[in-house]
Amino acid sequence: MIQIRNKIGSVAPKVLTNEGVAKTDNYKTEFNNGATEFKFDSGIYGHKEVKERLVTLQQGKCCFCESKIRHISYGDVEHYRPKAGWVQNNEPINKPGYYWLAYDWDNLLLSCQLCNQQFKKNYFPLLTENSRARNHNEDINNEDPLFIHPANENPEEYIEFNEEMPIAVDNKIRGTVTITNLGLDRELLNEQRKKTLNMVSDIYNLAKNFPDNPPELKKVAKDKITKYHVDSGRDETEYASMLRCFFRKNPIDF
Ligand SMILES: [Zn+2]
Repeated sequence: MIQIRNKIGSVAPKVLTNEGVAKTDNYKTEFNNGATEFKFDSGIYGHKEVKERLVTLQQGKCCFCESKIRHISYGDVEHYRPKAGWVQNNEPINKPGYYWLAYDWDNLLLSCQLCNQQFKKNYFPLLTENSRARNHNEDINNEDPLFIHPANENPEEYIEFNEEMPIAVDNKIRGTVTITNLGLDRELLNEQRKKTLNMVSDIYNLAKNFPDNPPELKKVAKDKITKYHVDSGRDETEYASMLRCFFRKNPIDF
């Protein structure tokens, strides 16, 4: 997981600020009249305009697991704060959810279907449960979410990697909960990351152990691994966070 820096301060797609705001106003009125369930319109939050913007800003990667998703699926427009109902632990779903954020740009991200549908679902645990904003009259800024927000925060302050395995930095609870609840350590994902890591570490070891003579050949090997190092700093790179950890532990100092 890396910070989606492109999304910070980006302007919301028009469909959200037009239709989305109008719908949200209706929900607020409905809530004030006693409603706890709302009819959400995926044609607004999942509108082509929204999805395409998210794909561009996230460079085709899942906001949670950093897999490139676009070559195998369309991806899901995911709500950081769940719109229809929330779950703190394993209890039955609590309603209403964050209905007033269903079309809120800040709350929308692109994720792979596995992260969204199989793991995150309606989970939105808070460190202090009674800080929860239960309706649009309460302030979400008082909440202390356990899930790291992939755009407003830097996930790399909370999650690092031991080879291909994600672990919480200094055992930070937000790192642990985000890894566990989003399945960031699921087996198939670890396998996929391992393939990438093995390729990079093989090239690293080859370059590091390459004989110093002739120097031009040593340089070719070093240039190759340097390219991977540079790429790991680019947000579009699949599993960039893991690769950054690798290069922090394995500097190109030869
Ligand atoms: Zn994912």
